[in-house]
Amino acid sequence: MFELPSLTYGYDSLKGFVGAELMGFHHDKHHQTYVDKLNAVIELNPELKNRSVEDLLAHINELPESAQTGISNHGGGHYNHSLFWQSISPNGGGQPTGDLLNLIINKHGSYQNFVDEFTSKALAVFGSGWVWLQPNGDIITTANQDTPIAQGLDAPLLCLDVWEHAYYLDYKNKRDDYVRAWWNVVDWENAANRYQAFLGK
Ligand code: MN
Repeated sequence: MFELPSLTYGYDSLKGFVGAELMGFHHDKHHQTYVDKLNAVIELNPELKNRSVEDLLAHINELPESAQTGISNHGGGHYNHSLFWQSISPNGGGQPTGDLLNLIINKHGSYQNFVDEFTSKALAVFGSGWVWLQPNGDIITTANQDTPIAQGLDAPLLCLDVWEHAYYLDYKNKRDDYVRAWWNVVDWENAANRYQAFLGK
């Protein structure tokens, strides 16, 4: 059975980004619901037991047809949120360093250009979706709970949730303020660790 991952920080520890009530709802209600519904899909398809969510998503087209939508929506919701919690930290913000900074500068010209491109893509997502930094430096977006690994892409380094449930309680319709505040909590250390793992270092 899949389980809701514990956070390494408190719901009230990201106040410059989102408040405790929003964090609590987002983690304990929204993410928990994806986990519960993913487990319900597995119950109906016991042959999928003991496979990781990454494995299920990466082979989505090979799963029983009746399970594909459920795994895509709820497995995607579980995977995406699990990475989102790792993408932010009370000790986050600032800029990446080392190999990750080099990747970003090589691909986008400067760190500020990267921030501007990521931000404009986040604001351009129509409806619900996600923004991702890929280990080749690309900034991509997905709709709903679609996830890069289900599209045959490498595991992302970090992600931003731009569903309304991720910001509406604190920001109402102002997604731009939410995205701007996100840069103050980005966990570049976690993203750098994921990049090193991708590089095999
Ligand atoms: Mn969310």
